[in-house]
Amino acid sequence: MKRTLIIGPPGSGKGTQAGRISERLGVVAISTGDIFRSNVKNETTLGVEAKKYMDAGDFVPDNVTNKMVRDRLSETDVEDGFLLDGYPRTTAQVDYLDQVLAENDEKLDVVLQLTADDEELISRLLGRATEAGRSDDNEAVIRHRLHLYHQQTEAVVAKYAERGILTQVDGIGNIDQVTHRVMEALKVPGATPTLQTVLEGPPGNSRAQL
Ligand code: AMP
Repeated sequence: MKRTLIIGPPGSGKGTQAGRISERLGVVAISTGDIFRSNVKNETTLGVEAKKYMDAGDFVPDNVTNKMVRDRLSETDVEDGFLLDGYPRTTAQVDYLDQVLAENDEKLDVVLQLTADDEELISRLLGRATEAGRSDDNEAVIRHRLHLYHQQTEAVVAKYAERGILTQVDGIGNIDQVTHRVMEALKVPGATPTLQTVLEGPPGNSRAQL
């Protein structure tokens, strides 16, 4: 298993599924949202800068985010693979990531998109707001984050579809059901995935045709 991206609208469960995939595939998960949140919590310079954008549901500017990702990808624990969660979110970030990976003759192997419709996402996120108290989970901010996903991140998905590395998974259902679909899409047999099956993708029509 190599370099995977999990992408999906806010509330699609990508963080939860990323944790499970990373465990099953034995690769490190890198969530830009988590890195930002931990910086906000520790009141680092990066955190103070990022918080303004996060609270408004806006993207943190590329010069901040790209550098953070570049630094993280230069660490040794990701040499043999990683699971990116939440980056890239714009086509400019796609170009930047391509460049960073190309410097080491690397590229993304698989992009897994979790799908769900907006109304489902809004009701899930409002639920999470009550449970987890995230400061970017109020309704106006949620709608703005969804808007940005449609406006900017869907173009990222389209780019990867063109490259033929996109796999889509229905994110509606309980967490275990979705994990099962994800593992099927990634063709992870039990807990011992083989590189070949992931790279070749599933047979039949489960690979996205956009
Ligand atoms: P997430 O947990 O992935 O929903 O990310 C939470 C917030 O972190 C987002 O709403 C953005 O403000 C910020 N963020 C995370 N990833 C990125 C990214 N790739 N580009 C810009 N901002 C990001």
